[in-house]
Amino acid sequence: MAETSLSQQDRERLVLAAIDAKEFAYCKYSKFRVGAALLSAKGEIIKGANIENASYGGTICAERTAIVKAVSEGIKSFVALAVVTDVASAISPCGMCRQVLREFCALKMPVYLVPADYLKRLADGDEEGGIKTTSIGELLPDSFGPEDLELPRTS
Ligand SMILES: [Zn+2]
Repeated sequence: MAETSLSQQDRERLVLAAIDAKEFAYCKYSKFRVGAALLSAKGEIIKGANIENASYGGTICAERTAIVKAVSEGIKSFVALAVVTDVASAISPCGMCRQVLREFCALKMPVYLVPADYLKRLADGDEEGGIKTTSIGELLPDSFGPEDLELPRTS
């Protein structure tokens, strides 16, 4: 289960940042824009978008863009993530992003999967705006993380 200690105001701020981040997606191959935003423990918001490449393997997802931006600036403690695309259903991070998020985020950290029509849904009276709330632990059960490398070896 996700820990829902985030204030409504912080969640709103984070979701709007993810929507904003999507505007800078560079996705000329997939035509699938993704925006992500991380909220740091100190209240900073770090945005990311998917950045594709003509050599497809060089593509990086929005979630990893955000994490790499944050960590490379010395921010390594996060309290929430929001992800948004241009489709009406909640799209969740790919497997590789889940693992990278797992490195830096608590298993109970909330992950907000935001539908493209979030603002319309809010205006229509849906208090949640269609957001699906999950967590790193739910997205990546029985995961392997940094602490596993500290376990004593038996041989
Ligand atoms: Zn990904």
